Amino acid sequence: MDRKILVLGEIRNGALRNVSFEAIAAAKIAAKGGEVVGVILSDHASDFAEEMIAYGADRVVVVEDEKLKTYTPDGFGQAFLQVINAEKPEGIIMGHTALGKDISPKIAAKIESGLISDTIAVEIVGDQVVFTRPIYSGKAFEKKIITDGIKFVTVRPNNIPPLEKDENRSGEISTFAADIKDLRTVIKEIVRKTSEGVDLSEAKIIVAGGRGVKSEAGFKPLQELATALGGAVGASRGACDAEYCDYSLQIGQTGKVVTPDLYIACGISGAIQHLAGMSNSKVIVAINKDPEANIFKVADYGIVGDLFEVVPMLIEEFAAVKQS
Ligand code: FAD
Repeated sequence: MDRKILVLGEIRNGALRNVSFEAIAAAKIAAKGGEVVGVILSDHASDFAEEMIAYGADRVVVVEDEKLKTYTPDGFGQAFLQVINAEKPEGIIMGHTALGKDISPKIAAKIESGLISDTIAVEIVGDQVVFTRPIYSGKAFEKKIITDGIKFVTVRPNNIPPLEKDENRSGEISTFAADIKDLRTVIKEIVRKTSEGVDLSEAKIIVAGGRGVKSEAGFKPLQELATALGGAVGASRGACDAEYCDYSLQIGQTGKVVTPDLYIACGISGAIQHLAGMSNSKVIVAINKDPEANIFKVADYGIVGDLFEVVPMLIEEFAAVKQS
């Protein structure tokens, strides 16, 4: 059976998010050789269509409308629902991002579909498409199949490798005229709290600080290390509560869930609520002066020492490696 899967491309800071390409890769598996159709909702959606094709979409539907300049649940919900009704897909996949978490349950309710959220793997077992997602704050994993209705799935960033970008891939790009009306929300201004740079939830390398960083100024060497590695800075709730940094940096059960290739935890004790947000990182390095700290139980590499001595040494070492 030919299956059609829609993938919602998400634009942030003027570019498609990497998780959208990961969603295409997930859709390719779930479609089992069927069609993967990218959908882009924006005031300049067509600028991004070719990139979705380069990452594996067979076809792209763009909805270009001034009312889609910034995300509103209302505007995006109406436009996406109309595309879904026109395309009648067997599946819908998008990133498990703030946008995806907001829009997916609303759409799922409207189309009376189930939703598998926060998926970290998609595989074919026998003739079934099996989706894996973490439960109990990452302490266990459940595998789900959908036996009836639309496959509606969100994928956690940094878990499903995207296909290699191939500018030679070709596919049809079509425009869909959505009727977006009676918007109840108008975004007048977006005030960003964190500085521009690597997006924490998609960062491949994260340098995170805890209460052990001791002050706002204490985060400076961590920022330096993150910059040297091309990564982003994160934090424990302890550091946020102590006002050393903004809550937008918080990682954990009540913060962001991240899965970078490398997570460097500096002065973080490793409370269960923090581990919930980072324990699935591919390589974890912990720097803590307490050899009994819980963080060492999940760390691949542990450095027992004062972070204010260790972090500058790491910056120096990485700079030396780069130069050589
Ligand atoms: P601490 O536990 O105080 O640890 C500081 C560490 O720094 C210690 O291990 C110490 O040995 C080390 N240290 C001190 N000085 C140095 C130095 N110079 N060099 C090296 N190491 C040093 N927490 C989160 O992080 N994220 C969440 O999302 C989250 N959600 C929560 C939700 C609920 C409902 C609750 C109840 C709690 C939540 N917490 C969360 C809080 C969590 O329980 C911990 O209190 C918090 O993670 C502790 O932060 P911390 O490790 O930075 O601080």
